[in-house]
Amino acid sequence: MMIRSLLVAVALSGLLSGVAMAQDSCGCLVIPMQGTYADGAITMDVRHLGSEADACPSALAISGLRRGAPPIDVTLYCQAGSWVGAEFAPNLGDFNWKVNGRLPGPEAGPPVGVRGAESIIVNLGLPQMLHDMGKKDQEFSLDLVGAARAPACVCARVREERLFTQDMINTLSDPVLLAAARDMALRGVDVRAKHYLDANSRLVEFDQASTLPYSFDDIVKLSQAGESSFSNGTISVVPGAETTQEMIAANGRPNTGVQAGAEASTHPVSCVVSMPPPHEAEMYCTPAVVLDAWRLHEDAHAARCRAINAAPVYLADGKTQLDLNGAAVMLDGLVAPPSPYSAWLQVPENTALDEKESYQIEKAVYDAWLGRYCGD
Ligand SMILES: [Zn+2]
Repeated sequence: MMIRSLLVAVALSGLLSGVAMAQDSCGCLVIPMQGTYADGAITMDVRHLGSEADACPSALAISGLRRGAPPIDVTLYCQAGSWVGAEFAPNLGDFNWKVNGRLPGPEAGPPVGVRGAESIIVNLGLPQMLHDMGKKDQEFSLDLVGAARAPACVCARVREERLFTQDMINTLSDPVLLAAARDMALRGVDVRAKHYLDANSRLVEFDQASTLPYSFDDIVKLSQAGESSFSNGTISVVPGAETTQEMIAANGRPNTGVQAGAEASTHPVSCVVSMPPPHEAEMYCTPAVVLDAWRLHEDAHAARCRAINAAPVYLADGKTQLDLNGAAVMLDGLVAPPSPYSAWLQVPENTALDEKESYQIEKAVYDAWLGRYCGD
C-alpha cells in the first residue's frame, strides 16, 4: 500500500497522543463488547466505563443475576491483561471476579491490536469462608445475546480509517488528476523509474527528460495532506512539500523500493505482504479489525503482483521476451524495473486502479464492522 505512508507522517501528532492513550488504557487488548451475556444460569450486563472516542474503557461495570446467588454489581479494572474486581458480601468477604474476552477459535491467535470479544470467560474466586465450607471457585463462559457495542475508541478509530479510505478512493478516481498525471508523464510510484509496462506487456522507456520530483503516488498522498492540487493539465504542489525521498531521509528508513514508512506493504518483486509488527499495533492501539482490513488490502495487491510477475514481458519491439525477475537488468544503459509489477505500477492509471480496488476492499470491511458494532 504505497499510499498510506503519508498518513503516518501527517498524523504523527495524532499518533503520539495515541501512544499516551495506549499506555494509559490499552492494557487490556481484548475488551468485551458492551451488551448482555448469558448462559442458562446467569445473565450479565457488561458496560464500558471511561469510554471515550480518544480513550479506551478504563473499567467495566458488570451487573446481573445468578440463580441462587445475590445480584452481581461490580466494577472491573484492567490488570495484567484481565478485567478484575472484588465484590464484598457482608458476613462472607470478597468475591473476586475476573473476566477475559474469549476470541473465536484457536485460529484467532494471540491478541494483536485492540479487539472486542463476544464471548467472555468469567472466573469467580470465592471468599475464604466459603472455601472453608468446601465450596470451589467457579469458572463459566458466557456468550453475548442481542446487540453488541464496540468501545467508542475503537469505533472512532475505525471511522477515521473509513474516512481515509473514502478520501483515497475519491482522489484515485479523479479524472482531472489522472489526465494531468498523463500530460506531465508522471511516474506511477517511483520518480527514479526509467521504464513502464505498456498495455501490450512491453517495457517502454519514459521520456528521460521529463523527470519530476513527485510521482503520481506522491501527488495523491500530498493531496490527502492538502499539499497538492490539480486542475486541467497541471498539478501544483505546495512549496516545500516533502517528496517521498525526503520523507524517507527524514525518517531514517531505508529506501527498499517498497513503500517505506507504510504500516503495511507489498513487496513488488516477491509480492510478500508485510504487516506492522505486533508491538506497533499495541503501541498505537490499532484495532484488530483495522489490521484485518489492511491485510485484505495488501492481499489484493499481492494477488495482482503475482499475476503480473508471472506473465511474460517484452522489449519495446514486442517480440523479445525479457526476464525481469532476478538480478538487476540494464537496458541501453538504464536500470530496468525490478519486476513486471513494479514496471506496471509506473503507469498512473494502473497505480490508481490497483490502489482503488484495494481501498474498496478495505472500506467494505469497515462498513460492515461499523454497521454491526457501532450503530453506523
Ligand atoms: Zn495499497
